[in-house]
Amino acid sequence: ATEKPSHFLQNILKRDLDEGQVTSITTRFPPEPNGYLHIGHAKSICLNFGLAEQFGGQCNLRFDDTNPEKESDEFVESIKRDVTWLGFEWAGDIRFTSDYFDTLHEWALELIRAGKAYVCDLSPDQAREYRGTLTEPGRNSPYRDRSVDENLALFEKMRAGEFAEGQCSLRAKIDMAAPNINLRDPVIYRIKKVRHHHTGDKWCIYPSYDFAHGQSDAIEGITHSICTLEFEDHRPLYEWFIANLPVPAEPKQYEFARLNVNYTVTSKRKLRQLVDEGHVDGWNDPRMPTISGMRRRGYTPAALRNFCERIGVTRSDSVVDVGMLEYCVRDDLDKNAPRAMCVLRPLKVTLTNYPEDKIETFVAPGHPNRDDFATRELPFSRTLYIDVEDFREEANKKYKRLVIGKRVRLRNAYVIEAEDCVKDADGNIIEVLARVIENTVGCDPEDGVKPKGVIHWVCGSNHIPCDVRLYDRLFIEANPGSGDTDFLQAINPESLQLLNNCMAEPSLVDAKPESAYQFEREGYFCLDEHYSEQGRAVFNRTISLRDSWAK
Ligand code: ATP
Ligand code: MG
Ligand code: MG
Repeated sequence: ATEKPSHFLQNILKRDLDEGQVTSITTRFPPEPNGYLHIGHAKSICLNFGLAEQFGGQCNLRFDDTNPEKESDEFVESIKRDVTWLGFEWAGDIRFTSDYFDTLHEWALELIRAGKAYVCDLSPDQAREYRGTLTEPGRNSPYRDRSVDENLALFEKMRAGEFAEGQCSLRAKIDMAAPNINLRDPVIYRIKKVRHHHTGDKWCIYPSYDFAHGQSDAIEGITHSICTLEFEDHRPLYEWFIANLPVPAEPKQYEFARLNVNYTVTSKRKLRQLVDEGHVDGWNDPRMPTISGMRRRGYTPAALRNFCERIGVTRSDSVVDVGMLEYCVRDDLDKNAPRAMCVLRPLKVTLTNYPEDKIETFVAPGHPNRDDFATRELPFSRTLYIDVEDFREEANKKYKRLVIGKRVRLRNAYVIEAEDCVKDADGNIIEVLARVIENTVGCDPEDGVKPKGVIHWVCGSNHIPCDVRLYDRLFIEANPGSGDTDFLQAINPESLQLLNNCMAEPSLVDAKPESAYQFEREGYFCLDEHYSEQGRAVFNRTISLRDSWAK
């Protein structure tokens, strides 16, 4: 096998180990617990945990919880579950940036004492105006030259809750004329009178992302702090804090291109909007590009990991075709999903020459080329059901299914020949009359008239009644929200099709949620834990057998 060439981060880690810059690798995956993880996060997870695995290091799971108003334990729990499901193990206990609030506060005091931070009373609007633009330098805040003692006193009052939100903030004193706007005296602490899901009411001031992130990396001994490209401009600030604080280690930041996938959105804000406005049925709706949604739909960890491997890691932004993800899902399920038969739109077939009280049982393989799969038992009786699409009164040669006067093979069972059909008052076909051709299980008819095709079926007297949810892409446009349009306008009105009164073969009584089967000729499906009720199974279509979007 040819080995995949290594990507730039693998090269950096290898170099740092070879040159002795580091003795071991420690990475982290740092989600903010303000939503469910999506396919983009899967890339970051596979990258951070994957690098640690590859180089014999460790990867921490750290919740970057510095915006208490949007964060919750529900999100923390969902994220832990998603990382574990993908097959990764974080090093030691989970960590929270909020675990470091005392240390971060102490380091803020340290900056004040060193004359490198000050309490600024500019309103957020004023501060924005003073900051300047890309082409114009900023101006110093009128509060920039407060004395150390005054700043210490004011910061203590901030901490004690004596000021209102937005009344003042603590800023690092760097350079208001720096070409990089992030270095123009960035805010490092702001007042938020909000209860925190982890620290409760202990704090009413919270560190900014920039002040918290690198220092948390340092506290944990992270060697390589990997983030997405939008943080490239923050790197000088990351380095400034590390250089100006008594941190126990000197982590380095590296950036890579975030994952964008067409026909979907990977922004927590937009995903939250889909949930809050009821466009989908929760964060784990099977149409959502969230890890929990994909899991519920029947996508597998192996498929997602394979996808993340294939898309690679670069520093240039691009959009990956969702067809690639779907390919990875099909590829894995084709190899690993057990086979079964389920009739989605049942049409009754009566076998006129088959005895009323006779029941046979055929045995079918669990998978066509895996003998490690258990076989299935298929009851067979005079009444069967096939799909309405699989019968026509007459048809041309291209139609390789059941036609009056023609033969078809029932998968894993007999060849039958249609004789007639019964219609209701409106002319709809409601029943097919057919006859079994004897001695055709596993062999062709003795008279030499071969069946034209193979169709799936279920036994009329022994099957599982069920509902099926057919999903399609959630958006019909490749780039939802492009130009000036609202991304909601690109929602596919046919992303969900509900089929009631479907019939599945009895072996599906063992179906477990999230674990997909191939329903032969129909696609891959898994039981839905939430929609299923006692006595009524509901199956999600994970994915069709073929890509119907391909041009
Ligand atoms: P969003 O933009 O969806 O709100 P985020 O970056 O704010 O995402 P975090 O919870 O902070 O969400 O993300 C945790 C980690 O996952 C970060 O290191 C972030 O860079 C990474 N990440 C988020 N989205 C993507 C993506 N689309 N591709 C790759 N990595 C991503
Ligand atoms: Mg973030
Ligand atoms: Mg975000």
